[in-house]
Amino acid sequence: MRPALLNPLFRSVGSIPGIGPKISRLVERLCGPYWADILWHLPSGVNYRPVIQDLINTPPNTLGTIQVQITGHIVPPTRRQPYRILCEGAGATVELVFFNYHKSYLQQKWPEGKVIWVSGRLERQMGGWKILHPDYMTDTLDDIPVYEVIYPQSQGVGSKLLRRMVSFILSATPDLPEWLDPAFQAKHHLPFWNTALDVAHHPKTATDLLPTNPARMRLAYDEVLANQLALLLVRQQASRKKGVRIQPTGFLTDKLIDVLPFQLTGAQKRVLIEIAQDLNSESQMIRLLQGDVGSGKTIVALLAALSVIEDGYQAAIMAPTDILARQHFAKIEALCRPLGVTVGILTGREKGTVRAKILTDLASGEIQLLIGTHALFTEHVAFHRLGLAIIDEQHKFGVQQRLSLIQKQKGVNLLVMTATPIPRSLALTAYGDMDSSRLDEKPAGRQPIETRVMPVAKIPELVERLHQRIQNAPEKTQAYWICPLVDESEKTDLTAVKARYEALQKTFGSRVGLVHGQMKGIEKDAVMERFAAGELDVLVATTVIEVGVDVKSATVMIIEQAERFGLAGLHQLRGRVGRGSDKSLCILLHGSHLTETAKARLRVMRETDDGFVLAEEDLKLRGAGEILGTRQSGMPDFRMADMQTAGDLLWTATKDAQTVLSLDPKLESPRGQALRILLYLFQKDTEIQTLKAG
Ligand code: ADP
Ligand code: MG
Repeated sequence: MRPALLNPLFRSVGSIPGIGPKISRLVERLCGPYWADILWHLPSGVNYRPVIQDLINTPPNTLGTIQVQITGHIVPPTRRQPYRILCEGAGATVELVFFNYHKSYLQQKWPEGKVIWVSGRLERQMGGWKILHPDYMTDTLDDIPVYEVIYPQSQGVGSKLLRRMVSFILSATPDLPEWLDPAFQAKHHLPFWNTALDVAHHPKTATDLLPTNPARMRLAYDEVLANQLALLLVRQQASRKKGVRIQPTGFLTDKLIDVLPFQLTGAQKRVLIEIAQDLNSESQMIRLLQGDVGSGKTIVALLAALSVIEDGYQAAIMAPTDILARQHFAKIEALCRPLGVTVGILTGREKGTVRAKILTDLASGEIQLLIGTHALFTEHVAFHRLGLAIIDEQHKFGVQQRLSLIQKQKGVNLLVMTATPIPRSLALTAYGDMDSSRLDEKPAGRQPIETRVMPVAKIPELVERLHQRIQNAPEKTQAYWICPLVDESEKTDLTAVKARYEALQKTFGSRVGLVHGQMKGIEKDAVMERFAAGELDVLVATTVIEVGVDVKSATVMIIEQAERFGLAGLHQLRGRVGRGSDKSLCILLHGSHLTETAKARLRVMRETDDGFVLAEEDLKLRGAGEILGTRQSGMPDFRMADMQTAGDLLWTATKDAQTVLSLDPKLESPRGQALRILLYLFQKDTEIQTLKAG
């Protein structure tokens, strides 16, 4: 139960006086359903609009407010010309200029002789001043803010409306007990919570908007602290859950290891031991496996699955896309058949009788290892005895999906794998509820990938060289050509991909293929299969191939508009090559107008091939939010914590939360009680329940 103290902050947007259902829906979409959500929507800018008494010494292009008397209207002969209202005031002649005006409205509302306040950008013109489309025209000065706060806005929800709502809500905001550690608060000069909100919503200069502003820092810290505390509470709870205890015999895993054409790396062995210990314990395994692209996660997953199967349980591997699920199925099935292990596949594409048969075999235990997409854990899929669920490329799934999975499969051991390393400072935010293992060693014999950066103008030359390389290579060699398609609905991007495909056909004829997100699943598969089988030399693709695809003779990766990708994305793509023993090449093509960040990113890509190093660099360049993939993944997004500085805050907040919980695990001390309020404030209600359960 949320403390009554917080009730005013959890009223609905629609209950703010003067906010109708239509507006409240728009506000909810922009900020969220509650009053508190509007408070978390912090300003993005501020305009200073001083009252100008005398225009004599005012520099042109000044934003300001003046008092004027209307002296006349100039109605233009055609609609194409502007309507002008002539005024006198502040020691000068001022014209108010309107395009797209409403003639009779202007004439009635602003009659000659009337004295009004006008605010806007004051521009010089012959013989005086003008304001094009004044921002304000009012009878009283009170209606025009001197410091005009600008909010991130959306269609139908402007700053003016937000200002009005914020000031109304602030006046209703309760005093809350202090949950910060006094020493920490004093050291950083952090204001009390209410003061912080008030100050953060009333910036006066651009500096007030910086994350280093104590008011903003306070709010950001609160948010991060609530999050870390909640994660630790869940974790306390999760680790107490009983799990399926597995006692592997080794008869399948040993056989597989014998027939593998390679030795497991030291890191793979270490991780397998960590997993075995978890599986063998009384409590549920919830483990994250971080391993760079190409570090060999699949085989680790398979060995873990086999050890569960040895003990008579089933295992499931979930991949984020159909393509990946099918690729895993093909490889894993081939390895499992000789061992006598039955593998099935289930994606959205298995329908009708095929699907029904899979479901029956799953329920009877006939299928021992099931591979699929998220379809795997939906509705009617019932296992006979599921012992281990593995999620591949976990960053593609949201934390929510992950948690729902843990909840659904009571006590089932869970291994999630990601190729996107998370900097240590962020690991706990993203994966605070999990144990973690790292595959920090690449299989032996890999050649480093050479990375080159070049402008798009080099494309013709590049195509020529690629053609030669493919024709003259002693061993079969293939290339990926990636065009960005960030948003599947972006038509221009799609056109660009198709155009590239057609252009390359001129050189490569029918030996070039195309895959993009708008193709049907089977069509995509067919093209991918032809590429994997070596029937295509060049595969033009959007980022659908981003994750997991494994084609050994692909040794060239060309990425167009590389500046549009983040480091993690580029690294993932680059990881598609360099999988065999041949030397591979990655070419990053960029346009002419590069931002500093984009330049830095491309430079970092050229300098390092280590995913963990890249992750740290990425944190510096992009900020935490994007690394955590919060935007796409539906992880609780930080709204007040500025991501550029969140690294430090997170670190401190994590330590803080750990210390608090170690001294006061049930949050009963005075600070603990206040922290409960903080948790409720950020709607961590479920997490608080765990305090009771324990
Ligand atoms: P990722 O971690 O990116 O999922 P994969 O599991 O797809 O990587 O492995 C990449 C390639 O490396 C695969 O072709 C796999 O067979 C191979 N591989 C895995 N482990 C080893 C190893 N210890 N030695 C050599 N090759 C390995
Ligand atoms: Mg993989």
